Amino acid sequence: MKMARYLKGAIHIHTVFSDGHSTVPEVIATAQRAGLDFIVITDHDKLDPPQLAFQRRHGDLLVIYGYEMTVRPWSKNHILVLGVPSHRPYRDLPYLEKLRRIIADGGRTFIAHPWNLIKPWLLQMHLGWGRFPAVPFDGIEIWSFMHDWVGSLKLHKLLRQYRNPCEFLAGPRPEVLARWDRMNMRRAVAGIGSLDNHARRVPLSRKILFDNDLAFRTVRTHVMVDDDCGNNDAKDIDAILDALADGKSYIANDMLADSDGFVFCARRGGDVLYPGETAGFDGDCEIEIISPRSAHFKIIRNGVTDYESRSDGFRYRPKNAGIFRVEGRLGGRPWLFTNHIRLAGGQCPLPSEE
Ligand SMILES: [Zn+2]
Ligand SMILES: [Zn+2]
Repeated sequence: MKMARYLKGAIHIHTVFSDGHSTVPEVIATAQRAGLDFIVITDHDKLDPPQLAFQRRHGDLLVIYGYEMTVRPWSKNHILVLGVPSHRPYRDLPYLEKLRRIIADGGRTFIAHPWNLIKPWLLQMHLGWGRFPAVPFDGIEIWSFMHDWVGSLKLHKLLRQYRNPCEFLAGPRPEVLARWDRMNMRRAVAGIGSLDNHARRVPLSRKILFDNDLAFRTVRTHVMVDDDCGNNDAKDIDAILDALADGKSYIANDMLADSDGFVFCARRGGDVLYPGETAGFDGDCEIEIISPRSAHFKIIRNGVTDYESRSDGFRYRPKNAGIFRVEGRLGGRPWLFTNHIRLAGGQCPLPSEE
């Protein structure tokens, strides 16, 4: 059996190539200091040789360069596009045709910030997606550091929220998780964590609103890759993109507590399954969690809590087939959210969407 391990990364970062305020070398140096294994930079609507020149390993840090495609400028409906060498072949196509071509070319597509974020006093007007595009996109952002922070912002708590962002993060929105669960009962749709960080300078000051030093320690996506990852940059980038698209990942606010060492798996006969994997269900399936910290864990089956425990590890036997994921909270604060393990098929098919 091949050995696997987790790599931790920060996804959805802006630089001076679009509306971010850090240069790419600054972003890279900061990610290295934060101990990340990979970062995914996605400037707006642009992917050209000057950006792609950074797509390689820098020391131990793998830099992946994609772009954030604008679908509807007025509502700020955006899609992260990864794994293509340029935005130019798609630039002038109608939006659905763009997506179909990107997917046909092997590109990876993730719906960015699918929720409403309306804060006119902060000039933030993101309208949620009504219908998602009718193409087989790979996944959606289920949690975004910057959108969570801005969404939770109250003017009278501004300073406290700025100084202690993690105290105020609300976590993935319940309606987004519910929608994500319902989608997954029809087909596998990966969830990813993101930052959408711009490291903006505060006007008339030298202060930076959320520098990457802080952001890179918050919402991270941990992807499972084969243990031989690390030898070949192009192959390793593909392995990370595959893992993101296949939901072989969990998302954690590592600033609250380091989630390294966390494991969520299902045992069935001699097989061990991890998030993003599928197997038939029978009465012998056992779900296991191993955590570096004691936390309040919920096992969510088909969108509903199936089991919960406050501990640093447990096993339980689900009674029915379904799609299973984990939510973990520490002291009531959102900490860790996994992708689904699909235990279905055979005698126990998945229910269709309600
Ligand atoms: Zn966006
Ligand atoms: Zn963005």
